[in-house]
Amino acid sequence: MALVNVHFLNLQANYLFADIAKKVNAFKVMHPKADVISLGIGDVTQPLCPAVIEAMHRATDELATAEGFHGYGPEQGYDFLREAIVKNDFLTRGIHLDEDEIFINDGAKSDTGNIQEVLHWDNFIGVTDPIYPVYIDSNVMIGRCGTFQDGRWTNVRYMPCTAENGFIPAIPKDCHMDVIYLCYPNNPTGTVITKKELRKWVNFALKNDSLIFYDAAYQAYIQDADIPHSIYEVRGARKCAVEFRSYSKTAGFTGVRCGYTVVPKEVSVADFEGNRIPLHQLWLRRQSTKFNGASYISQRAAEAIYTPEGKKQVQQTIDYYMQNAARMLSMLRTLGFECYGGENAPYIWMRTPDGTGSWQFFEQLLYGANVVCTPGVGFGPSGEGYVRFTAFGSHEKTEEALNRITEWINK
Ligand SMILES: *Cc1c(COP(=O)(O)O)cnc(C)c1O
Repeated sequence: MALVNVHFLNLQANYLFADIAKKVNAFKVMHPKADVISLGIGDVTQPLCPAVIEAMHRATDELATAEGFHGYGPEQGYDFLREAIVKNDFLTRGIHLDEDEIFINDGAKSDTGNIQEVLHWDNFIGVTDPIYPVYIDSNVMIGRCGTFQDGRWTNVRYMPCTAENGFIPAIPKDCHMDVIYLCYPNNPTGTVITKKELRKWVNFALKNDSLIFYDAAYQAYIQDADIPHSIYEVRGARKCAVEFRSYSKTAGFTGVRCGYTVVPKEVSVADFEGNRIPLHQLWLRRQSTKFNGASYISQRAAEAIYTPEGKKQVQQTIDYYMQNAARMLSMLRTLGFECYGGENAPYIWMRTPDGTGSWQFFEQLLYGANVVCTPGVGFGPSGEGYVRFTAFGSHEKTEEALNRITEWINK
């Protein structure tokens, strides 16, 4: 008899976006003529840039020849891409990494979800709240989070990020955390962390021998010059932090699939005798066993965004989305809504009016304006009373959605 991994049974039955889809479909069945605009799910909409497309065509043509054919590549990624990353994403910000500290993957979701499996099951994790659901759910799967009670896991430290504390999580004084997940710029709140605040986390981790998993999937959206793009801009982070990057939001790769994880060789974890084992060694072993590399075509596509044309074109699309964000911020604020984020990230985090619940506001907006947002509570207990809007739509759809919201509010 094959027995189930019982921890899977603890997972909450429905994934947030499946719940949203269900409610939107119910609305559409009742209102077949309504044209619903989604500012909900965090997927991009604009096409891949020409530099990327050309690189993919070239790579495809290569594969069609005997000399240019590529079979299995290195599990950790091709040198041409690792080199481009070290040079363009880090050296330009004064960070020195070895190429073999870069692990190319098929997107950040896989690695942010998988990395926890090299750690003992009873490590104690902390997350900022609200947060990208993958971090907690992947830890639930290995039995690390306890039980789910009143909207939270009993063995997880939630660090609230709300308007009341300016979305700056307080560093707990009373609680040891072995692993801390940070995501900046943040999904879902669209807020960022200053170098000074990030330094506090690195110092906390160094002092307490904790590990930081830093998700920088949205770093390309940072506009303010003094906001850190990488945790390695903080001294000491090489000893305690793993960083995740993705081309999904940076360059529209949500369908192409490519990203990478930085595991510095100094980061280590302990065994029960107190010996230190480099995380790099563990992760390399894990990836070589379970992962066969991202496709050659995806990696050539990713390499192309580091060319001068690629950089320019990718930036144009980011600017396009950030124009949406600016437009949304200004319109929603004019309507009297309290909004956050949207300045260094493609997300607007909006407080619902008069303490309306997240899901209730979601329905009001859907039925009143035919616009879909994401209920904040789906990202954690501190998300209650907020909703998230994404700036990833087209200008036209975004403008139309804003007009509808205006009409609905003024009714
Ligand atoms: C979109 C997103 C990712 C990236 O996922 P991919 O697997 O690279 O597409 C990672 N982290 C966060 C917080 C995200 O929102």
